[in-house]
Amino acid sequence: MTSLAGATQDEVRRANLSTVLRLLHQDGPQTRSHITAVTGLNRSTVGDLVSALAVLGLVRERSGDIRGVGRPSLVVEPVPGSAVVLALDLRVERTVAALVGLGGQVFARAERQHHDGDQSTLIAEVTQVSHEVLAEIPPGASWVGTGVGVPGVVRTRDGLVRFAPNLGWTDVPLGDLLRASVGGGSGDVLIRNDADLGVLAEHMRGSARDSSTVLYLGGDVGVGGGLFVDGRPLVGAGGYGGEVGHMRVRPDGHTCRCGARGCWETEIGLAGLLRAAGREHVRDISVTDLVTAAREGDAAARAAFESVGDWLGIGLVNLVNLLNPQSIVLGGHLSAIYAMAPDRVASQLQTALPAARELVEVCSSHLGGDATLVGAAEVAFTTVLDDPVGALNSSVAS
Ligand SMILES: [Zn+2]
Repeated sequence: MTSLAGATQDEVRRANLSTVLRLLHQDGPQTRSHITAVTGLNRSTVGDLVSALAVLGLVRERSGDIRGVGRPSLVVEPVPGSAVVLALDLRVERTVAALVGLGGQVFARAERQHHDGDQSTLIAEVTQVSHEVLAEIPPGASWVGTGVGVPGVVRTRDGLVRFAPNLGWTDVPLGDLLRASVGGGSGDVLIRNDADLGVLAEHMRGSARDSSTVLYLGGDVGVGGGLFVDGRPLVGAGGYGGEVGHMRVRPDGHTCRCGARGCWETEIGLAGLLRAAGREHVRDISVTDLVTAAREGDAAARAAFESVGDWLGIGLVNLVNLLNPQSIVLGGHLSAIYAMAPDRVASQLQTALPAARELVEVCSSHLGGDATLVGAAEVAFTTVLDDPVGALNSSVAS
């Protein structure tokens, strides 16, 4: 913002435009005076910045709904159809695609199941579902980027998927493949670990908006972990950190898809839950089916949620002691395990160190199964939010 030491006037203005647009994108419509209060910028500067963003078509003003003494003040709002991104949640079983506008409005959404096939079949399916939603770009909108979540460790610089055990991938250049087959509009194709996007989404728009230290755990086939510490993502030296699903919790346990024995994922992943319920060989059974069975009194299903609830709690104890999080957000089937066996999770958590334990709140994801998808959209919006003028000029030029 304005405190950038040694920054030129242009740099200060670019940073201020970014601050105002980011605020409107994240928090929605608000008055100029509210923007003034939140950003600490002066009133005339805010007026000038809002006008500049309106000229770009990114925001508009309308009269407010609040009636009171004097004139109703103008409300500034983001224009969803001005800039859009393609968001992809590439999972083991299927890919979900969405076309998302500035401010978070979803213009189109589609899903494609993955059939058993090789890597090129899967890329073709991802490409197809992407083009399906891209056909819905509103007239006049700029497509400013593509964000993709994958269940694996990713070199974020170019989108090389280093290792995705549940997809059977090692060193797959997903970024290059999708740049060629789908593209990013005027922006890039950004590939990220799915849980890193999940924690970003929960921190920005979900259950952990007020927490600066957040642990997100997403359960799909595997278990992914994403971390925000002191308001910033924590990803490690190479960006490969947060793989909490591969914490070894049971050295004499089952062999994991990563090759090690006794990873947390082998106990609390979907396969672990079905195994505990004696249903590992049942075709096409979902977590919802298992929840229904348990609620209807199926003893094996109930016992599975309880024993897996213990394992969930045991891993959480280690993470609470290590990270001292304010919020732990559970997504995917982990949220169902917690809902079915809250006492088992809580009683394990009692063994965490008291000072850290007293501060932590465990909850289910408000975004449901969409945390990674929402995070993928947010990461794709980064370019236009960082530099609205530059991003839209390059969009016009391309
Ligand atoms: Zn493992």
